[in-house]
Amino acid sequence: MDCGQLAAVYEEYALGMLEGEERAELEAHLARGCEQCTSGVARARWVVAQLAATSPEAHPPEGLRRKILDAAGGSPATPASFKAKAKRPLFPGWAWAAAAALALITGYAVRQMQVDTARLGDLRDQVRIAELRNREMQQRLALGQMVTSVMMSPDSMPLKLMPKDKSMPMVHAYLHPNMGVALTAEKMPEMPPARTLQLWCMPKKGQPLSLGTFKPDAQGQVQMVAPVHIPVDQIAALEISEEPAGGSLQPTESPAWVAQLR
Ligand SMILES: [Zn+2]
Repeated sequence: MDCGQLAAVYEEYALGMLEGEERAELEAHLARGCEQCTSGVARARWVVAQLAATSPEAHPPEGLRRKILDAAGGSPATPASFKAKAKRPLFPGWAWAAAAALALITGYAVRQMQVDTARLGDLRDQVRIAELRNREMQQRLALGQMVTSVMMSPDSMPLKLMPKDKSMPMVHAYLHPNMGVALTAEKMPEMPPARTLQLWCMPKKGQPLSLGTFKPDAQGQVQMVAPVHIPVDQIAALEISEEPAGGSLQPTESPAWVAQLR
C-alpha cells in the first residue's frame, strides 16, 4: 500500500480499530519514517483524542465500532482483509471522526458515564464526578467541534507553523475566511506557570495582531480557535512566541514557530 492508500486508514488506526495486515503494514511504514503518514496519523490521533477524551475508555469496544460503522453507512468489518477493505477508499477519512463524534455524543459516552458512576456507590462522589465530567465533556466537545469545523472546512487554508527549535513539534493552523483560525499541536512541552504561548497574526502592513494566548494541556495537546479580524489575503505570516502569563500587547520574544502565507 502506498501513502495514498494508507491515508484511508489513518482514522481507523488512530481509533485503535485497524487490525491484521493493514495495521502491521501501516506501522512498518511509519517505522520507516514517512513524513506524510506520520503527520497524517498525528492529525487523526489528535481528532480521536478529542473524541476519546469524552469517553472513559480510549479504545472503543466492539459495540462502538459497530455503531460507528452503522453511522458511517459501512458494514461491520469481517476480520481484516484487503478485499473487504478495498471497497472503502471512497469513504473519506473525516467521516470516521465525524461518525465517532456522533456515536459518542448520541449514546456511548453518556451510557458509559452512567455505568461508571453507578459503580462508585457513593452518592456524593457520583454527583460530583458526573458534574465535573459532564462540564469538562461539554467544554471539550464544544471546543473540539469548533476546531474540527474549521479543520474540515474546504475553505480553510492549512498551515504548518515550523518550530525554530527542531526538537519542538510542529503546530498546525487552519485559517478560515470567516471562522477564524484553529490551532492544534501534540507533544508540546509543559509551560511554566508564569509563561504562556501567544499566537500572532503578522499583517502585510502594520503591527502584529494578537490572536490569543494558549497553553498545552497536561497531555501536551493544544487546541484553540480564535477570530481573525483582517482578511486572509492581508496576512503575511502566523507566529507563536513565548510571553509572560496573560500575554503581551506586542511580541516580546522572537517567534518560536512561524508559518509564512503565500
Ligand atoms: Zn507514507
